[in-house]
Amino acid sequence: MPPGKPRPTGCCHADRRPFFFPVPQPPEVPMLPTRRHVLTAGLAALILPRVAAAAIAEGPFAVTRSAAEWRAMLTPTEYAVMREGETERAGSSPLNAETRPGVYHCRGCDQALYDAAAKYDSGTGWPSFFDVRPGAIGTMQDRSFFITRTECHCSRCGSHLGHIFDDGPQPTGLRHCLNGVALVFRPA
Ligand SMILES: [Zn+2]
Repeated sequence: MPPGKPRPTGCCHADRRPFFFPVPQPPEVPMLPTRRHVLTAGLAALILPRVAAAAIAEGPFAVTRSAAEWRAMLTPTEYAVMREGETERAGSSPLNAETRPGVYHCRGCDQALYDAAAKYDSGTGWPSFFDVRPGAIGTMQDRSFFITRTECHCSRCGSHLGHIFDDGPQPTGLRHCLNGVALVFRPA
């Protein structure tokens, strides 16, 4: 031991006051699910699927149903598209080949949406229209997939229909790119 250096002691802090007084801690949170945990999980379940889907219009709408009521009247695919903003598989809709005169209605509330006269073959694999019946749809900006698109939905019940792009034929220059499962065709 060199001279002048303090001699270490066995338990030098034992008799000292701590540098920091301990901060009173709240009671330990139990790991059982609390109401807040359940609520957070519920919100996550609601929000996360939308990361991969379109935004959903919130209304208010003339026709409203609970999620259970929508599920009861729609197939799982219809529900996923119309109420969660998913997109049906390209080429999957029988309405792609539909060319008869008539009117396309909303599957959610039967509102008349698109006239067959405005339907055209866009080659995309989704039923496409260059025009819509007046007041039949609402639109909003959809920023899912890191791009901005114009979402369209039924103005009466809010069901998601598809998106609108500006590469359609004249006279409108618009392409309403729709999910066939959201539509019911009624021949004239
Ligand atoms: Zn509707």
